Amino acid sequence: MARKTILVCDKCGKEVEEARGAVLRVTYSDARRMGKQADLCDDCAGSMPGQPAARRGRKPKNAAQA
Ligand SMILES: [Zn+2]
Repeated sequence: MARKTILVCDKCGKEVEEARGAVLRVTYSDARRMGKQADLCDDCAGSMPGQPAARRGRKPKNAAQA
């Protein structure tokens, strides 16, 4: 297939253009549990719960005094 893959938002079903949108990843604390992920369009990604996150496991140095 020479067609490029078209991503579809897992929440609203809209097509997600290349280089747009986001992937929402769910990782369970229980490492044995299989996580899951969802492709989201820009709009849906913005309305998902969560907070700006850098990397897991370490707090950004300037988080407290910002
Ligand atoms: Zn969407």
